[in-house]
Amino acid sequence: MLVAEDIKNRARELGFDLCGIAPAGAFPELSELRHWIDKGYSGEMAYLAKTAEDRSDVRKVMPSAKTVVVLGTLYNTDRPYSTEIEDAGEALISRYAWGDDYHEVIASRTKALCAWMHERHSLSPFESRVYVDTGPIQERVYAQYAGLGWIGKNTCLINSDLGSWLFLSEVVCSLSLAPDSPSLDQCGSCTLCLDACPTSAFPEPGVLDSTRCISYLTIEKKSSISPEQRDDLGSHVYGCDVCQEVCPYNATAPISDNPAWQPQPIFDRQRLTALWLRSDTELRNSIKKGPMTRVRLKRFRRNLAVAMGNSGSREAQLALNVSRTRSPDTDSLDEPIVAEHLVWAREKLSGVP
Ligand code: SF4
Ligand code: SF4
Repeated sequence: MLVAEDIKNRARELGFDLCGIAPAGAFPELSELRHWIDKGYSGEMAYLAKTAEDRSDVRKVMPSAKTVVVLGTLYNTDRPYSTEIEDAGEALISRYAWGDDYHEVIASRTKALCAWMHERHSLSPFESRVYVDTGPIQERVYAQYAGLGWIGKNTCLINSDLGSWLFLSEVVCSLSLAPDSPSLDQCGSCTLCLDACPTSAFPEPGVLDSTRCISYLTIEKKSSISPEQRDDLGSHVYGCDVCQEVCPYNATAPISDNPAWQPQPIFDRQRLTALWLRSDTELRNSIKKGPMTRVRLKRFRRNLAVAMGNSGSREAQLALNVSRTRSPDTDSLDEPIVAEHLVWAREKLSGVP
């Protein structure tokens, strides 16, 4: 016999910070995805439209599902928030992308929990699936129903004690387990995240227009960034954390000492120019080591060029001009998408004395 409390105890032993149980229900929030896509807010993320039906209920993918065990892992580190950094020459990279690839680290831990559940329930086999971010499951909705936190006006899952720097993962299973109570919204009258967004990407509280969001523009958008939107990127080269950083629930968020989430030296408070002057091989290897593997090198170079153009600095102007003489191992500069944004950045910096 396996009960919810046993699973939560084992999850703690495996290093998870949060564990809760949600029933595999068709919650009303799950149907909002379709309307959101129909409004055009998903931009070039065609995979969302393709999997929208599957994402409307975990039982579409696994008809026997009765329970979703939702797990949360804190990844906050001791580095300052981007909103505290005044130097426009420093590369801003989303906090979650600094360390090892969480898909691998969290998947192995979640699979270990799932294997343990099967072992403990071996006399009565059950069906299960493990997800970490990438599967057709609306993780935050199940996390809210599992009592891990509420979905804030910034669309992130927020836990009142741990904040929102959380990786989520799930074991969907055909076992019936006692569910937790859903979390209640604790945003109240606060609007700090909506007011702080540099691109006004929230048409209404809790609704994100991805096509205006810096995270989408720097990570998901494969094509050219429109000249009007390039200025909005500021120094962000991969993702944006502003709407989480200003959240009062992250003001005193605890720090994780897990080595997996500490920044790789190459991405640890680096200057834009230092990254730009790296060879393709160095950048490609570092990108592959962490979750940034989602962007190919050419997109990362595109973002770097834009951020350097925005920096308005002589240092960036010089570094971009070094590229004219070409260091070895920088073939990515010939990619049309990089070349286009590089021309724009040089032009933008042309007036810098
Ligand atoms: S991630 Fe940045 S750009 Fe996107 S909604 Fe949040 S604050 Fe706005
Ligand atoms: S900043 Fe305020 S409104 Fe936004 S998610 Fe945090 S508590 Fe909610």
